[in-house]
Amino acid sequence: MSPKTDARERLLGLIGLADAMNQGTTPEAALDDAIHEALLNQPVLRTCLFPGCIRQYDARASLAGEPAPRASWSSEGWKKVTRGPGHGDICPDHAPVVTEHLPNRLELPNGRWGITCACEWTTPPQRHAPVLRALWEQHLLEVAGVLPTAPPVTDPEHRIPLAKHTDATLTELYDRLWDAEDAYQECRDVARACMVAYTIAVPALSGARIALEALRTRITLDSRDWAHDKLDALLYAVLVGWNCENTDPGHQHNDIDCNGDQGLWDIARQHNIPTDQTIQAGHHRWWIANAITAAHQIEDGAKQQEGN
Ligand SMILES: [Zn+2]
Ligand SMILES: [Zn+2]
Ligand SMILES: [Zn+2]
Repeated sequence: MSPKTDARERLLGLIGLADAMNQGTTPEAALDDAIHEALLNQPVLRTCLFPGCIRQYDARASLAGEPAPRASWSSEGWKKVTRGPGHGDICPDHAPVVTEHLPNRLELPNGRWGITCACEWTTPPQRHAPVLRALWEQHLLEVAGVLPTAPPVTDPEHRIPLAKHTDATLTELYDRLWDAEDAYQECRDVARACMVAYTIAVPALSGARIALEALRTRITLDSRDWAHDKLDALLYAVLVGWNCENTDPGHQHNDIDCNGDQGLWDIARQHNIPTDQTIQAGHHRWWIANAITAAHQIEDGAKQQEGN
């Protein structure tokens, strides 16, 4: 008898015929159930994303709301990053440093990729997006003090005296020069593509802002009852907005000087406008308001630059 069938026989004995009869099943079926149960209840271990950290938690127990089979697998204090080049799980030890350095992936012109970290650290443009993860991990190790920061190549303290240069050190220098020339060319291409996109997008956005703001003023000064007709009500919803749009941090909706956040739904009910069309009108209003805000921000920024 193989060790496996032996174990099976002994388990069958343990479960017992009586138990199986009580449950209206055969001992074999009861055993299969037990094995199935054990397999289903396997811990599903997730490891901390911090390079070199071996802490794990049991995602199955955490999802089921049960205590983890081992205390060290508890999900308490763990955090999750759900998107971007930093996605994964972070143990409680590393949660503070990782949340201070959450990366955002940037899609750059010319098929290039970059990262901007919450701390403002960035990568030079890269051609292969998965490289970003590794570069960000190196950044994490540097800010956590695990890796010493690389000294700048031009740092006088780390310069090799002229007489001590060898073939190898000179080759290294030439390689770095080669890389620098390449990076310079690449950064210039990216900057140029950004400038082209910017010079096209900004006047277009500003023009749209001027037209939309003029329309809005025209509508709000009109004596017409914009709530009476269905099409008027939809136009008003998108160009002016039935809801209060005050975004001041201290603002709370009230009955005196604001429309609250139910105005659009009230008008939709009044005209039997379907829910999806109402939600869509709300989105369109948001896009327009957001584009106007963005145009103002860009124009104010440009004015400040001129002032400097
Ligand atoms: Zn960790
Ligand atoms: Zn950072
Ligand atoms: Zn309000």
